[in-house]
Amino acid sequence: MALIVQKYGGTSVGDAERIKAVADRIIARIKGGDRLVVVVSAMGQTTDELIALAAEMTDEPEAREMDLLLSTGEIVTSTLLAMALKHSGQPALALSGAQAGIGTDQVYGRARILKLDPARVVRELDAGAVVIVAGFQGLTEEMEIATLGRGGSDTTAVALAVSLKAERCEIYTDVDGVYTADPRICPEASKLSEIGYEEMLELSTWGARVMHNRAIELAAVYGVPVYVSSSFNDEPGTLIHGGVAMEKANKVMGIAHDEDVARITVRGVPDRPGIAAHIFEPLGEGGISVDTIVQNASVERLTDLTFTVSRSQLDEAMAIIKPIGEEIKAGEVMADTHLAKVSLVGAGMTSGPGYAGRMFRTLFEAKINIELITTSEIRITCLIDEKDVPAAVKALHRAFELADAA
Ligand code: ADP
Ligand code: ASP
Ligand code: MG
Repeated sequence: MALIVQKYGGTSVGDAERIKAVADRIIARIKGGDRLVVVVSAMGQTTDELIALAAEMTDEPEAREMDLLLSTGEIVTSTLLAMALKHSGQPALALSGAQAGIGTDQVYGRARILKLDPARVVRELDAGAVVIVAGFQGLTEEMEIATLGRGGSDTTAVALAVSLKAERCEIYTDVDGVYTADPRICPEASKLSEIGYEEMLELSTWGARVMHNRAIELAAVYGVPVYVSSSFNDEPGTLIHGGVAMEKANKVMGIAHDEDVARITVRGVPDRPGIAAHIFEPLGEGGISVDTIVQNASVERLTDLTFTVSRSQLDEAMAIIKPIGEEIKAGEVMADTHLAKVSLVGAGMTSGPGYAGRMFRTLFEAKINIELITTSEIRITCLIDEKDVPAAVKALHRAFELADAA
């Protein structure tokens, strides 16, 4: 009898019929002999709708109330699913994140799981129930409810799989696996039967929202296999694990894109030691994550500093950076939000030459301007105009011959 943690995303539990269909899938699985803990997301677009409702009340909702509000979305799904299961004769129990023993820090809106006490979950499992846990939330030491960030139910599921020593974590969503690019904008994308943690982490960090990147980080640290598949059919999905054959890993694996990009440029920054720390430390202290930083060569001891943040953090970042700009007597501080990132990911890119050149040539031939370039060992990212994203992804997919990659 294997212990499995499953997670069903928003579309998979989008309405009453879908929740009943998920209940049927769970029952079939239990009949097959497995024991299940099931993590659920909020129904359909509920989280977006709750955010929109809050915006009707105030421009600046308090983070505490915002998280308490958003946590209700997954609680609704968990209770309805437990009811559907019990109605069909399957013992089940719904738990909020707090009741399931998930402890987080108090960084509202992007809390991290600090500890997980699975005692209650284990007790209920031992009593024969399917335990349904509301995703995306936990309890802080101050007894406040905090949420894990958009897409965070994946992380709840992997954290539970780690703490329960489950055989694997299964993520059920509206696509039947991880593809070589987002199949919604690149119809030629092909499904990967497997992918290593490292490459999946890079893809999800750089925009492939099929998995929450923190879920992959956790899975990699503890070696939990994660299986991504559809809740709408029984097509084979993608296994994310640590044992991917070296040769297979040795090539371009996929393309990620991310439209959640805002660029900030500080012009005329005095070129002297300590200035970068002076600018970036306050951003870090303010909880702003900065991912791409470029400093131009200095002309007459003045440089331009450019970096990117997520669009949702742009206002906060500008509020921190503008006074610093004045203090260090820099020139203007400018922001723009029409950009997006396109990234090529593959473990083989360090060993094989020519990937960067081929990527830039492909974008050039598609008449797409590159605004900024960053790389890691296994990734090359170009910042481009967001309107060019579909064309860029398709052109790169073709140039790197990913249509028959799987
Ligand atoms: P859920 O609500 O189930 O968590 P998400 O919307 O978070 O689902 O993630 C699934 C979506 O991720 C897909 O509908 C797809 O458009 C998108 N996606 C982006 N990149 C990829 C990729 N490489 N492979 C598969 N899906 C991807
Ligand atoms: N409901 C949350 C969101 O929409 C968390 C999740 O679905 O994973 O982001
Ligand atoms: Mg998701």
